[in-house]
Amino acid sequence: MGFTFKKQRHTVDEYVQGILNKDRVMLSKAITLVESQLHSDNDLAGAVIERILPYSGKSLRIGITGVPGAGKSTFIEAFGKYLSSQNKRIAVLTIDPSSQKTGGSILGDKTRMEELANDPNAFVRPSASGATLGGVHSKTRETMLLCEASGYDIIIIETVGVGQSETSVKGIVDFFLLLMLAGAGDELQGIKRGIMEMADAIVVNKADGDNIKRSKLAQKELQHALHMFPPNESGWYPSVLTCSAINHTGIKEIWELICEFEGMMKVKGFFKSNRQEQNLQWMHDTINYHLRNDFYSNQEVKSSLSFLEQQVETEKIPAIVAAKKLLSMFFNKRQLGE
Ligand code: GDP
Repeated sequence: MGFTFKKQRHTVDEYVQGILNKDRVMLSKAITLVESQLHSDNDLAGAVIERILPYSGKSLRIGITGVPGAGKSTFIEAFGKYLSSQNKRIAVLTIDPSSQKTGGSILGDKTRMEELANDPNAFVRPSASGATLGGVHSKTRETMLLCEASGYDIIIIETVGVGQSETSVKGIVDFFLLLMLAGAGDELQGIKRGIMEMADAIVVNKADGDNIKRSKLAQKELQHALHMFPPNESGWYPSVLTCSAINHTGIKEIWELICEFEGMMKVKGFFKSNRQEQNLQWMHDTINYHLRNDFYSNQEVKSSLSFLEQQVETEKIPAIVAAKKLLSMFFNKRQLGE
């Protein structure tokens, strides 16, 4: 409606059928739709999500994080190929928090995971990143649901372990894996204690060549460090494993550990309760997202915002007074019927 260029869109039925028929092109197009910033796409995307929702939820959702250079893409490629050899279908979504702000990218270019991307059992897709008012993770969540409805058994969500996106990713996955390196102190790896605490497993990568010994030592040290954390309420003790993504060693063991986790969480009911909590969070995230969006796109708010910001900055009025002014502009208008 009224856009200078019109992107080609399909009907809700076409998207839904395509996704359910495991049509990758249609899945990609649906993801583009979900990630779209165009207002006119929101309703269509919402309708598609609602329709595919009953077909989603059956996959195992794995979050993988680690600093740049830890070997995430090499690992995911090896891990993905292994899962594919076990007749699993895998979708990999990568979140790169840097790309929106800087135009550059921590995760590098599209050549990452080329081999896996060409595997008929795999689907690799960089996820929309950036600072769209809480949009990142709601989009990632919706993208994940589209992949699930398209029959992917395992969804891997990759994020760089330096920012705050981990907390949000933890909030949408079943299992959270932290990839680390031997020989680099925690500080060097930029991994915050909080991220270690969130991990269901830590994997020391690059355990090959003359790095094997150091990796085993790091494994011990990390395992010891994990013991210092308070126990998880589910009764799961995070393990530390080693692997070589390049040599494809230790990969099977990681998968077995994840299966053990899944089994145990399902038996104890934590698998379900975790997802229920995440669902609730999704509701609140959606509310917050729309409220903020509405607020900041309100005409009156928009026209007064920078002036009031300036007033606060120069200490002419207290922050709280400015905030209240803006909020009452927004809410009064709402009461009058927009
Ligand atoms: P990412 O930034 O975390 O995605 O890391 P990459 O997967 O791009 O890997 C960073 C570098 O480490 C690359 O040069 C890889 O070839 C190398 N690398 C990754 N995994 C291994 C491994 O298991 N052993 C060794 N020796 N090098 C690895």
